[in-house]
Amino acid sequence: MSFDRNLEERLVRYCAVDTQSDADSPTAPSTAIQYDLLRMLEGELREIGAQDVTLTDYGVVLATIPGTAPGPTIGFLAHVDTAPQFNATGVKPRVIRGYNGGDITYPDDPELVLSPENSPYLGEKQGHDIVTASGLTLLGADDKAGVAIIMAAAQHLLAHPELPHPPLRIAFTPDEEIGRGVGTQLPKDLACDFAYTFDGGKVGEVEYESFSADGADIRIKGVSIHPGYATGKLVNAIHLASKIVGALPQGSMVPELTSGRDGFIHATDMTGGSSEMRLKLIIRDFELDGLEAKGALVRKVCEAVQAGEPRAEITCTITPQYRNMRYWLETDMTPVNLALDAAKSLGIEPVSRPIRGGTDGSRLTEMGVPTPNLFTGMQNIHGPLEWVSVQDMARAAELMLTLVGRAVRG
Ligand SMILES: [Zn+2]
Repeated sequence: MSFDRNLEERLVRYCAVDTQSDADSPTAPSTAIQYDLLRMLEGELREIGAQDVTLTDYGVVLATIPGTAPGPTIGFLAHVDTAPQFNATGVKPRVIRGYNGGDITYPDDPELVLSPENSPYLGEKQGHDIVTASGLTLLGADDKAGVAIIMAAAQHLLAHPELPHPPLRIAFTPDEEIGRGVGTQLPKDLACDFAYTFDGGKVGEVEYESFSADGADIRIKGVSIHPGYATGKLVNAIHLASKIVGALPQGSMVPELTSGRDGFIHATDMTGGSSEMRLKLIIRDFELDGLEAKGALVRKVCEAVQAGEPRAEITCTITPQYRNMRYWLETDMTPVNLALDAAKSLGIEPVSRPIRGGTDGSRLTEMGVPTPNLFTGMQNIHGPLEWVSVQDMARAAELMLTLVGRAVRG
């Protein structure tokens, strides 16, 4: 059973729909254009015979594939939005059939080259069908590869009721790229025992560890006065903000100098003027004690600068963002082991690396729906060199089918 053409046709069609999300928008979904794909998927799910197909008022398409055998209800998720970091309007996907191992050039940007030199994984994909954009945009395989994989596998299961599998729930979500894909309603509406996101990279990736994340919001109020009459009175908030930045770690514990399991403190925003400044940091670590220690360090720096200038007013608010899904998954590894065993049975060597970021699964897991992340094949995401192999996507679809077959109880 080959899913190649089905997956390729779906991916190309979904990628051509502009679904870029926007962190500055207060609405949910953040952009109305995401409905173009959400409605398309709603219609396609009905066409292939899925049950309970709904588009919620918070912009998630939900559907059921009725079980043909007893077992836990399993959810499958992919996000429809594309990253705001790069042009995503007017995506022209194209397929390079039977990739020859050489350089791939781009019709709309002659300077651009994709090659095994700048993307070593591509070197392993000779003979595969490679999908890229045309040079001016990202592709959006992140995460339309995941959408296509779930749709193709769902279509297959619905066409073959003789295949035993437990009840399945499908969710296509908006706004993952801006960290707003999982609203408070979703866990209840998803109504499953555990779930998977198809939002990973290389074949074999089964991820169940993400960062734990806090955000720090530092506000610095100086004393504002006409500089001509400022002697002994003016307190410049800009100087205090730069003191805080200067006292935070720079030679270590920053994203550009850390990797693997090391966390960091990252200054993301500094705005304001001499009377008032605002500084935003993100704090990341895989362990809660490491996260806490980094937060304590930030507070200590603020307190020290405050102590040096009592006339200023410095506040530091640290807010939890998301937590490492491992804390919950390690208490019950059933969903992780199911995916690892399914991969191995297909001859795929599973790889579980900690994600230096968060996924929709981090939030879902914390909210009571254990949700590891599975591979789709997508590479070089969020930029013009984004690509995916159709045959890698087919492996992911096989993984989904094998996994649900192995989940049958009794
Ligand atoms: Zn993604």
